[in-house]
Amino acid sequence: MPETTHPESRARRSLVTGGAGFIGSHLSERLLARGDRVTVIDNLSTGRTRNLPDHPRLRFIEADLHEALHALGPGEVFDEIYHLAAAVGVGLVMKDPVAAIRTNIEQTIALLEFAAGRSAPGAASCGIPTLIASSSEVYGKSAKSPYSEGDDVTYGPTTVSRWSYAYSKGIDEYLALSYGIQRGLPVVIARFFNTVGPRQVGDYGMVLPRFVEAALGGKPLRVHGEGRQSRCFCDIADVVDALPKLMTNPACRGGVFNVGSDRSISIRELAELVIRLTGSGSSIELVPYSEAYPPGFEDLADRRPDLRKIRGAIGFEPRKSLENTIRDVAGWLSTSGKVDQGHRL
Ligand code: NAD
Repeated sequence: MPETTHPESRARRSLVTGGAGFIGSHLSERLLARGDRVTVIDNLSTGRTRNLPDHPRLRFIEADLHEALHALGPGEVFDEIYHLAAAVGVGLVMKDPVAAIRTNIEQTIALLEFAAGRSAPGAASCGIPTLIASSSEVYGKSAKSPYSEGDDVTYGPTTVSRWSYAYSKGIDEYLALSYGIQRGLPVVIARFFNTVGPRQVGDYGMVLPRFVEAALGGKPLRVHGEGRQSRCFCDIADVVDALPKLMTNPACRGGVFNVGSDRSISIRELAELVIRLTGSGSSIELVPYSEAYPPGFEDLADRRPDLRKIRGAIGFEPRKSLENTIRDVAGWLSTSGKVDQGHRL
């Protein structure tokens, strides 16, 4: 990626929490490419150091976020913070709900306290401008489609742990907006829909890498239910393009924005597409929800973002086709050692 230098005399200093993860590592690369000095804090619970480039302007701190923030001296200042560290996805949350809920809420409080308590020298605003990663899960099980940022939401009962991820991300949003109102912290919230691309792993149920890995290994693609449920997949390159724009546009401050693609595909069609594009001989296996998840699990028929708000704010338009993303993911998985038997594309 070509490097462009920030027009100011010194490089912008950006902090990326969860920067060794899927979205965070791509974002860190994007920020390095525009000339930033990037600090990544990550405890490597789901992230990997090999996701990060070896770059003279990148500093990596391996630690739990709250500990790392506590250890940063008063002279450590940042111009922007991207908060991506989280226990990600419903699968991980259902495996260890206490740890996941605590991670998502406690780390966010620590981060917002840090951001509100410091300012970049010469900055007009109070606190460090902060982007908080949220999720389309916040929409709960609303039957309305597409989902707009101002919609009412409906969640399942607290006795079903699947919804705790949605609640925890919703609390993160409340926290960020409240720090904005009460402490004047410049915040913006990005509600990610399914983001896909190289470096995403299928270990916690992310569907696309799971399908591509199975197809490349000649194993059946396990589709939950009948596969009629649909989702919208947005390439990581489009997503990381949007985040610095949301951060720097003053009109986005205090706002919540859907970030994703609005092109739907059913999970059955996705499986067929993956098999076709990888030239795999794999079959599709329909797995009842009762086998795939603990009792009480509810899946959503459709999850599509209304993109009018982000289009109006920063001219966001997803550009990369799902076909090209699948090819990228297959190319990455073939060389990352995650697939046992090599499969030529
Ligand atoms: P990821 O698991 O690859 O990244 C999360 C990173 O946070 C990992 O590197 C992990 O090691 C780190 N982390 C977790 N707990 C930490 C802690 N206590 N201290 C320091 N680091 C910690 O997942 P991702 O897909 O890159 O997700 C990034 C963000 O985007 C998350 O906030 C997630 O909720 C949100 N999100 C992602 C998607 C998606 O489709 N990928 C969808 C909705 C929301």
